[in-house]
Amino acid sequence: MQAFQAHGEFCAAHPWEVILAVVTVTICLFTVEQSHSSSSQKIAVSDCACCIHEAEYHAADIVVMTIVRCLAVLYSYYQFCHLSKLKSKYILGITGFFTIVSSFIFTSAVSNFLPVDASDIEDALFLFLLVIDLVKAGTLAQIALGGSTEEIKQNIAKGIASLGPSITLDTLVETLVIGVGTLSGVQRLETLSYIACLSVMVNYIIFMTFYPACLSLILELSRNTNLFQKNGILSVTSKEEKSNPVVQRVKIIMIIGLAVVYLNSRCTFWKNEDNIIALSSDHIVILIVLLALMAKFVLFEKQTIAEENMKSFLKEESEPRKIPTFFLEYQDNDEKLCEDKHVQTDFVFKSNTESYKERKPRNLGECLQIFQTNLEATLLTDQEVIMLIKEKYIAPYQIEQAVDNADRGVRIRRRYLESLHDTPIILTELPFESYDYSKVMNACCENVIGYVPIPVGLVGPLHIDQRKIYVPMATTEGCLVASANRGCRALKSGITTRVVADGMTRGPVVRFPSIKEASEAMKWIEDSKNFDVIKENFDSTSRYARLSRIFIRIAARYLFIRFIATTGDAMGMNMVSKATEVSLKMIQVHFPNMEILSISGNFCADKKVAAINWIEGRGKSVVCEAIVPSETITSILKTTAHSLVECNIAKNMVGSSIAGSVGGFNAHAANVVTAIYIATGQDPAQNVTSSNCITIMEPHGPYGEDLYISCSMPSVEVGTIGGGTVLPAQSACLDIIGVKGANVSQPGENASQLARIVCATVLAGELSLMSALTAGHVVKSHLRYNRSSTTICSDLVNSLKVPLH
Ligand code: NAP
Repeated sequence: MQAFQAHGEFCAAHPWEVILAVVTVTICLFTVEQSHSSSSQKIAVSDCACCIHEAEYHAADIVVMTIVRCLAVLYSYYQFCHLSKLKSKYILGITGFFTIVSSFIFTSAVSNFLPVDASDIEDALFLFLLVIDLVKAGTLAQIALGGSTEEIKQNIAKGIASLGPSITLDTLVETLVIGVGTLSGVQRLETLSYIACLSVMVNYIIFMTFYPACLSLILELSRNTNLFQKNGILSVTSKEEKSNPVVQRVKIIMIIGLAVVYLNSRCTFWKNEDNIIALSSDHIVILIVLLALMAKFVLFEKQTIAEENMKSFLKEESEPRKIPTFFLEYQDNDEKLCEDKHVQTDFVFKSNTESYKERKPRNLGECLQIFQTNLEATLLTDQEVIMLIKEKYIAPYQIEQAVDNADRGVRIRRRYLESLHDTPIILTELPFESYDYSKVMNACCENVIGYVPIPVGLVGPLHIDQRKIYVPMATTEGCLVASANRGCRALKSGITTRVVADGMTRGPVVRFPSIKEASEAMKWIEDSKNFDVIKENFDSTSRYARLSRIFIRIAARYLFIRFIATTGDAMGMNMVSKATEVSLKMIQVHFPNMEILSISGNFCADKKVAAINWIEGRGKSVVCEAIVPSETITSILKTTAHSLVECNIAKNMVGSSIAGSVGGFNAHAANVVTAIYIATGQDPAQNVTSSNCITIMEPHGPYGEDLYISCSMPSVEVGTIGGGTVLPAQSACLDIIGVKGANVSQPGENASQLARIVCATVLAGELSLMSALTAGHVVKSHLRYNRSSTTICSDLVNSLKVPLH
């Protein structure tokens, strides 16, 4: 395994050298003189021996070769179909390139090393197509594409390490199985067997040398094309591809057995020159070779882990958008609804598995010695680890690192907390199984003890910009989803949305010795020439963060510098913070007296109500509008346009002004924003700024009986990559909307689309709640849908009041 990894690393690290070596060898193959006179003669002897069967043999040959050709074409078609489901033109292109190069080298090898005529080369190419393994080539490309651009070489090495052993064994098995044909003594069969053996070997050599080198080179050259964040591809690298040891062992035994048979037969043939196998045996041997090949394709390949990975990846990538069918065929799809997936992981703890088997704990000294010798606690049982935590050798927040296993770490933390003598924390009701904590570690949460499931409801279809969208909302507030869904029904004639500005912000506070220096620095930064230099520094920190503006305010000797940047498909807070830090360091070179007091001076302003975001915007500034016909207002919303407009002015304009609201000129934008944010892995605390919204309603139509409604949201902070969006359940919700991950062709488009959808769903929520308010339905429906019958006595229901939004 390590040797394969080292080999993979070498090929990926020295692509030019490897490619040059392969090309040189290929050129040599072309120039090699034919030196097979002896073998030709030998074959000529067997030619003679077989001539009595020539006519019969020729007919059989045509039949067999026709079958081989058909199988080859079908198999190639099947492999490309499989790969095309990846919907990655890169993987398809790379594997296509692999096929062409391999076929070319193979053909030159055949024509120069084997005594064959032109028609044999044709047959050879078909045989080659039968043995070439595009799925493995695709899998290696897929593994290489996983992760960040910096990891190309390691990924290729990992891919070779995981695919190499099984491919090597396969090659040996295939060569030896097909090699049986070369013992037949039948010239035609021998030729085909030699060709097939050569195919297998060429395929192997190219896969192990030229292909990884080319892959490394192509991907290095494509660094800027952002292939690497393609959804789903990332997941492949995280799965360890381990070959089944039983299958490996069986293959090794087969190799040894076949090698013995092969050598033995060779000896017998050499000893007995006259040995000629009857023609009927020839057919039998060809049939065996074909069956062996078919068995390889049908049985062995489907069992490989690489194929399994490909399958899961294909499933993830190629499944049609579930929601439209799910919703439209609600009644017909009971089975689909019953399908349950432990979305985060298939990993389930088995308390008595060998690795975690609890035995009588060893004493502290022994455990400590094991821990300190290995610098980790993987060899200790749970109880022994808990003992080390209690004795303060392992910090409770570092359990995962100590046992080198996120899932086990969470389990031990729970057991540790439950075993505390003074204040045991009982966690039996808090779920923790069937969740992949490795995705959470160092990314989304620390000190993890489990997870809180939140129901996810679906609203839609929402007709946005001529598209039908379904929107998942995670909430525990009854009525909310139903209400937003009613709004969607009332907005069937469509919502138009626009993103009018885009810019994530970070506003540090810096201090100077005096207002003189502070004001000089302010001027210096505002100078367009200096801005260009700052921007160069800022932009250099990320492939997507691009500084668009700097806005400065001075207060005494303090400067508040608001960096405003586009951040592609990411919400961008980390990216902008990182870039701001680098930019400040650069400014500090020009103003050594500048003290950086805080990277955030609340001038950003992140997760706090602030007029600056309401006025200047933050993240995406979105606006949307719709017309609701009077029939819809009466039939679905049970109210009138006039009542809605009147109520909107009184509540959302006058009421909010009287309350001194900043950005709160709406009925309940925060409800919809937060539910979508939780479902799609946004930072939920950013609902503070993101919920800034003004809802405007006007009478519409000749008699004012229709309604014009619009929502303007200047600070929607969303992303479709980074943060919690990478967690499987959250990314599944993004997928429902159709904006999962990075938009490769137009970076930033997915995040913009999500912002529009948030705004349009807010509009639906506003319309529905405002209608319920004017019709006086709110209290009734909240009591009906927002009170758990298990906690509230039904007799009390009518006498209680619930808060309105
Ligand atoms: P991030 O995950 O820190 O950064 C996004 C990453 O995705 C970057 O490495 C970026 O590449 C990469 N990327 C790949 N394709 C991209 C594309 N098409 N568009 C944009 N980026 C792409 O995410 P973030 O949005 O900057 O930060 C979000 C996290 O910050 C959330 O977890 C949130 O809770 C947290 N947060 C942080 C702060 C803070 O003060 N730092 C404040 C509030 C929230 P590059 O490396 O080339 O940029």
